[in-house]
Amino acid sequence: MISDTTYPFQLPPLPYSYDALEPYIDTKTMRIHHDKHFKTYVDNLNLALKPYPEYHSWTLEELLIQLNQLPEPLRTAVRNNGGGVYNHDLYFDFMAPAGQAPLKEVTDLFGGEESWKSQMKTAGLGQFGSGFAWLVSDSFGGLSITALPNQDNPLTQGLYPILPLDVWEHAYYLKYQNLRGDYIDSWFHIINWDAVEKRLNGA
Ligand code: MN
Repeated sequence: MISDTTYPFQLPPLPYSYDALEPYIDTKTMRIHHDKHFKTYVDNLNLALKPYPEYHSWTLEELLIQLNQLPEPLRTAVRNNGGGVYNHDLYFDFMAPAGQAPLKEVTDLFGGEESWKSQMKTAGLGQFGSGFAWLVSDSFGGLSITALPNQDNPLTQGLYPILPLDVWEHAYYLKYQNLRGDYIDSWFHIINWDAVEKRLNGA
């Protein structure tokens, strides 16, 4: 994961082909989202860190956990672009070609699969403007669903990110236009539950 790496950060390749998530997420959206948006966050994070060699040995995770100790204007740049890098790395890794069964040990905590989906969808729809819905873990391993604006990352709130749902318009507008809920319904088909399981066991 890019979260364990340090400056200068590198754009990771997409872990599957650009059309692998069709028809749920279209090829063109994947190309623009990964190759343009994600890359821009990486480039801008590196630009922001360049004049601060004292932080070049910090991992991305360390930068986000200790965000509030960073000097301005680096703090704002890491909040937006460091968050953007971390969140997108996780977002792309935690999708996979359709067909994985939801993890019962997760969905049961939220009242079953339909109820889990409904709570995730409510969080994604309820995020005004840009942001992410998140499945997160607290320091005792308790799971919850939350939404955060822009590229804010749960690490900065003392929470551990498990599963991100990008609800920025750039994630869905080409195919779904204003229908964020339809995009979220599609996203449920392409969650990488194997990755969720591994992350929970390592969290
Ligand atoms: Mn995005």
